[in-house]
Amino acid sequence: MKKPLGRDSDIDCHMLDIGPRTVPLRVRRNSRARRMILRIDADNDGAVVTLPPRVKIEEGLAMARGQTDWIAEKLSDLPRRVMFANGAVIPLAGVPHRICHDPNARRGVRRENDDLVVSGRPEHLPRRLSDWLKAEAKRTIAPLAREKAAMIGKKPSSITVRDTRSRWGSCSATGGLSFSWRLLLAPDWVLEYVVSHEVAHLQHLNHSDAFWQVVDGLTEHMDDARQWLNEHGTGLHRYG
Ligand SMILES: [Zn+2]
Repeated sequence: MKKPLGRDSDIDCHMLDIGPRTVPLRVRRNSRARRMILRIDADNDGAVVTLPPRVKIEEGLAMARGQTDWIAEKLSDLPRRVMFANGAVIPLAGVPHRICHDPNARRGVRRENDDLVVSGRPEHLPRRLSDWLKAEAKRTIAPLAREKAAMIGKKPSSITVRDTRSRWGSCSATGGLSFSWRLLLAPDWVLEYVVSHEVAHLQHLNHSDAFWQVVDGLTEHMDDARQWLNEHGTGLHRYG
């Protein structure tokens, strides 16, 4: 269901019993809504009902209570969060890898075929693995970015890797490139595209036709990768 245009504001929050569990139900009001709208609230693992002016909160609650099966079904379709823990599976370059905790292993994280062996105390595993993934992302991305930049006679002033939710990469006016470590989870040709995209900004700090021509010259995967990110990009935020 589509979100109505116009200003939305939260006016109430309730807990809603959807059978197997209780989930948060946010009640919002929208000055331009013409009827009540019930949606899934993926960020809060609950639902949100939007009321037009003058409709009572009770009517919104009644509508949500009448749709608990629909809410439960939609929530169960949402991709589940995958925490970093022994036995969990995460993709690396698009290939599933199992996290194996081995307290007696050599210090750090080691790749063994399709396993990621993490040493140390169990309570340190999430932090240890996420540090390793960020470092590994930098080890993968930095040389590739320098290589791509050299192809167009440029040199990035810096290359950093962070955990950004809104974008996969960015290029500053001073030529600093920044990337999300989560690109390490995506197929390598998707990572290659994002690196090419940001490197192309060293030449054109816009999204003009000339810019896209440079991207196209740096990677063969522009269209496929853009489509992949559209379809699967948000799924990369499930991990950790
Ligand atoms: Zn861009």
